[in-house]
Amino acid sequence: MMEKSFVMLKPDAVKRRLAGRIIARFEDRGLKIVAFKMLQIPEDLAMEHYQEHREKPFFRDLVDYITSAPVIAMVIEGKDCISLIRKMVGATNPAEADLGTIRGDFALETGRNIIHASDSPESAEREIKLFFDESEICSYEMPDREMIYEE
Ligand code: GDP
Ligand code: MG
Repeated sequence: MMEKSFVMLKPDAVKRRLAGRIIARFEDRGLKIVAFKMLQIPEDLAMEHYQEHREKPFFRDLVDYITSAPVIAMVIEGKDCISLIRKMVGATNPAEADLGTIRGDFALETGRNIIHASDSPESAEREIKLFFDESEICSYEMPDREMIYEE
């Protein structure tokens, strides 16, 4: 099924100038970027985005980290792409992430794990709405679509 996922390159990815290489992985896979912006996340948006973790001991550090510098927020579209992108991202703790995953190749610690991706259709819908207006989500055809998808 065609899905949209919310993907965010965190401040460490931006400051380490890894954005192009990370984005290229999604493009190379055949996924389609349908929304894209750089922003410095205000504290209230950070707290809303990570609301499920508000009682965790790391919550304050997480909010400080994610608001410390600009992020790149994206909506990425593709067949079953929510779980696919989670696989490409790798485990939350980069030290345990498989080699070949984004976190496994570019990061070392949980508190600096460079990228966020939605973990379910419900969180994707919620997160996309938090960061993007409907009007900011683009629709276009990939000319090589038939080379990527069988149907
Ligand atoms: P994710 O879905 O793989 O990003 O992981 P979670 O939803 O469990 O956690 C959200 C984010 O909180 C992670 O990506 C980390 O940036 C951060 N985080 C999670 N666990 C810890 C922790 O134990 N310590 C710190 N400093 N940050 C954490
Ligand atoms: Mg999560």
